[in-house]
Amino acid sequence: VPFDPAELNTVAHALVACGTDEANLRTAIGQLYYAAHLMAREGLRTKGWEPTGRGKDHGLVIAKLAQHNLRVQSDQLSHLKELREHADYHLEPTESALNQGCKQCRNIRRVGPAGNLVTIADWQEAADTSSRLFPKLLKL
Ligand SMILES: [Zn+2]
Repeated sequence: VPFDPAELNTVAHALVACGTDEANLRTAIGQLYYAAHLMAREGLRTKGWEPTGRGKDHGLVIAKLAQHNLRVQSDQLSHLKELREHADYHLEPTESALNQGCKQCRNIRRVGPAGNLVTIADWQEAADTSSRLFPKLLKL
Protein backbone atom coordinates (compact mmCIF):
# COMPACT_ATOMS: atom_id res chain seq x y z
CA VAL A 1 0.00 0.00 0.00
CA PRO A 2 1.52 3.36 -0.98
CA PHE A 3 2.13 5.83 1.81
CA ASP A 4 -0.53 8.55 1.92
CA PRO A 5 1.19 11.96 1.97
CA ALA A 6 -1.89 13.42 3.70
CA GLU A 7 -0.54 11.72 6.85
CA LEU A 8 2.27 14.30 6.87
CA ASN A 9 -0.41 16.97 7.13
CA THR A 10 -1.89 15.19 10.15
CA VAL A 11 1.54 14.93 11.79
CA ALA A 12 2.22 18.64 11.17
CA HIS A 13 -0.99 19.65 12.98
CA ALA A 14 -0.32 17.19 15.81
CA LEU A 15 3.17 18.61 16.27
CA VAL A 16 1.88 22.18 16.60
CA ALA A 17 -0.86 20.98 18.97
CA CYS A 18 1.97 19.60 21.17
CA GLY A 19 3.87 22.85 21.26
CA THR A 20 4.53 26.00 19.28
CA ASP A 21 8.24 26.45 19.86
CA GLU A 22 10.15 27.49 16.78
CA ALA A 23 11.55 24.04 16.02
CA ASN A 24 8.03 22.57 16.03
CA LEU A 25 6.72 25.34 13.79
CA ARG A 26 9.62 24.96 11.35
CA THR A 27 9.20 21.19 11.17
CA ALA A 28 5.42 21.41 10.79
CA ILE A 29 5.61 23.97 7.97
CA GLY A 30 8.06 21.72 6.14
CA GLN A 31 5.78 18.71 6.48
CA LEU A 32 2.75 20.67 5.21
CA TYR A 33 4.74 21.55 2.11
CA TYR A 34 5.91 17.98 1.56
CA ALA A 35 2.38 16.66 1.94
CA ALA A 36 1.15 19.10 -0.72
CA HIS A 37 4.14 18.55 -3.02
CA LEU A 38 3.77 14.77 -2.92
CA MET A 39 -0.01 14.90 -3.43
CA ALA A 40 0.43 17.21 -6.42
CA ARG A 41 3.24 15.08 -7.85
CA GLU A 42 1.15 11.92 -7.62
CA GLY A 43 -1.87 13.68 -9.09
CA LEU A 44 0.22 14.83 -12.06
CA ARG A 45 1.53 11.29 -12.54
CA THR A 46 -2.05 10.10 -12.99
CA LYS A 47 -2.23 12.66 -15.82
CA GLY A 48 0.82 11.11 -17.49
CA TRP A 49 3.63 13.29 -16.17
CA GLU A 50 6.83 11.49 -15.11
CA PRO A 51 8.87 13.12 -12.34
CA THR A 52 12.65 13.11 -12.71
CA GLY A 53 13.31 11.92 -9.15
CA ARG A 54 15.61 14.89 -8.65
CA GLY A 55 15.40 18.12 -6.69
CA LYS A 56 14.18 20.02 -9.72
CA ASP A 57 10.86 18.13 -9.40
CA HIS A 58 9.84 20.71 -6.78
CA GLY A 59 9.84 23.48 -9.39
CA LEU A 60 8.56 21.18 -12.13
CA VAL A 61 5.46 20.16 -10.14
CA ILE A 62 4.58 23.84 -9.65
CA ALA A 63 5.14 24.55 -13.37
CA LYS A 64 3.14 21.48 -14.45
CA LEU A 65 0.15 22.51 -12.32
CA ALA A 66 0.14 25.87 -14.11
CA GLN A 67 0.42 24.12 -17.50
CA HIS A 68 -2.63 22.02 -16.62
CA ASN A 69 -4.62 25.22 -16.09
CA LEU A 70 -4.34 24.82 -12.32
CA ARG A 71 -2.89 28.28 -11.70
CA VAL A 72 -4.41 28.71 -8.22
CA GLN A 73 -3.02 25.35 -7.08
CA SER A 74 0.34 26.21 -8.63
CA ASP A 75 0.48 29.56 -6.80
CA GLN A 76 -0.59 28.04 -3.47
CA LEU A 77 2.02 25.28 -3.72
CA SER A 78 4.63 27.87 -4.66
CA HIS A 79 3.69 29.92 -1.59
CA LEU A 80 3.99 26.83 0.66
CA LYS A 81 7.40 26.14 -0.92
CA GLU A 82 8.59 29.65 -0.04
CA LEU A 83 7.38 29.27 3.56
CA ARG A 84 9.04 25.85 3.75
CA GLU A 85 12.39 27.11 2.42
CA HIS A 86 12.36 29.94 4.98
CA ALA A 87 11.43 27.52 7.77
CA ASP A 88 13.97 24.86 6.77
CA TYR A 89 17.00 26.90 5.75
CA HIS A 90 17.06 30.41 7.21
CA LEU A 91 18.61 30.83 10.64
CA GLU A 92 19.06 34.61 10.53
CA PRO A 93 17.39 37.28 8.41
CA THR A 94 20.61 39.06 7.39
CA GLU A 95 20.77 39.21 3.61
CA SER A 96 23.15 36.62 2.19
CA ALA A 97 23.41 34.03 -0.55
CA LEU A 98 21.45 31.71 1.75
CA ASN A 99 18.24 33.74 1.74
CA GLN A 100 18.29 35.70 -1.50
CA GLY A 101 14.77 36.48 -2.55
CA CYS A 102 13.15 35.24 0.67
CA LYS A 103 10.06 37.39 1.31
CA GLN A 104 9.89 36.39 4.99
CA CYS A 105 13.52 37.39 5.66
CA ARG A 106 13.07 40.62 3.71
CA ASN A 107 10.00 41.47 5.77
CA ILE A 108 11.83 40.77 9.04
CA ARG A 109 14.66 43.07 7.91
CA ARG A 110 12.14 45.79 7.03
CA VAL A 111 10.18 45.57 10.29
CA GLY A 112 13.32 45.58 12.41
CA PRO A 113 14.96 43.33 14.98
CA ALA A 114 12.73 40.37 15.53
CA GLY A 115 12.43 37.55 18.00
CA ASN A 116 11.99 34.26 16.24
CA LEU A 117 12.48 33.96 12.50
CA VAL A 118 9.59 31.54 12.19
CA THR A 119 6.47 32.37 14.17
CA ILE A 120 2.97 31.12 14.75
CA ALA A 121 1.86 33.60 12.06
CA ASP A 122 4.01 31.74 9.50
CA TRP A 123 2.47 28.45 10.62
CA GLN A 124 -1.03 29.93 10.38
CA GLU A 125 -0.35 31.18 6.87
CA ALA A 126 1.01 27.78 5.81
CA ALA A 127 -1.93 25.96 7.44
CA ASP A 128 -4.49 28.29 5.81
CA THR A 129 -2.85 27.87 2.41
CA SER A 130 -2.66 24.10 2.70
CA SER A 131 -6.26 23.80 3.93
CA ARG A 132 -7.37 25.60 0.74
CA LEU A 133 -5.00 23.61 -1.47
CA PHE A 134 -5.51 20.07 -0.15
CA PRO A 135 -9.13 19.55 -1.27
CA LYS A 136 -8.15 20.68 -4.77
CA LEU A 137 -5.16 18.34 -4.89
CA LEU A 138 -7.36 15.39 -3.89
CA LYS A 139 -9.34 15.97 -7.12
CA LEU A 140 -6.30 15.85 -9.42
ZN1 LIG B 1 13.91 33.44 4.94
